[in-house]
Amino acid sequence: MNKERKLIIAGNWKMNKTVAEALALVNSLKLELAKVKEVDIVVCPPFTALESVSKAILESKNIRLGAQNMSENNFGAFTGEICAGMLKEFSVRYVILGHSERRQYQKESNELIARKAKAVHGASLKPIVCVGETLAEREAGQMEKVLETQVRGSLAGLTKEQTVETIIAYEPVWAIGTGKTATTQQAQEAHAFIRRLLVKLFDEAAAKKVRIQYGGSVKPNNAKELMSQPDVDGALVGGASLEARSFADIIKNSI
Ligand code: PEP
Repeated sequence: MNKERKLIIAGNWKMNKTVAEALALVNSLKLELAKVKEVDIVVCPPFTALESVSKAILESKNIRLGAQNMSENNFGAFTGEICAGMLKEFSVRYVILGHSERRQYQKESNELIARKAKAVHGASLKPIVCVGETLAEREAGQMEKVLETQVRGSLAGLTKEQTVETIIAYEPVWAIGTGKTATTQQAQEAHAFIRRLLVKLFDEAAAKKVRIQYGGSVKPNNAKELMSQPDVDGALVGGASLEARSFADIIKNSI
């Protein structure tokens, strides 16, 4: 597939996988995906498996490491938090921010996500900033309003250069872990809306460089069609990234 932007496909393992299970998964992925050059591949294990997975992919040319969250602070009395310096010890390159589960359960606000995004860039890491509407919001015709508020709020204070290095993940909440995927048309419409918003916030050249992932029940059988949309530049994968076969097939089918 010849795309303007390089595809980036990330697996969010969430609160799954012991160290032994994480190693088994990443070792299978290394074998399955050794020849793939066309896609930036990212795995995001839980914090406890970062060190082992990092060592396992040390020699890998195409699999990079991501974290699922990060503190906006650099050190100090923040019990239970993990800062950028700790992630960098394990060669983490990407950090998922503002996943809908954290927005829902940890009550993360756009303001907090923006502070975290600044800290991620401050450490020369790349944030994957998640946005997406709930079913009630979509049905009330508020999708664009919600996306605009989340994108503006979560990227607030980033420079143009930082925004270009930010990955945005459009994840309609109603499609996450439900088996309901957005249609290719729904995904493309939302992605195009986000890109038009980036033109308003910065300019056309910058907006063209930002990679926008789709997330929400991406599977091997729907990946190709979703990735073929002009403004879909990759995927953030939950459930199907927990098994080597399905994650590898999503990537191979996307090329
Ligand atoms: C996610 O949680 O980011 C996600 C997209 O999950 P799933 O692929 O399981 O819908």
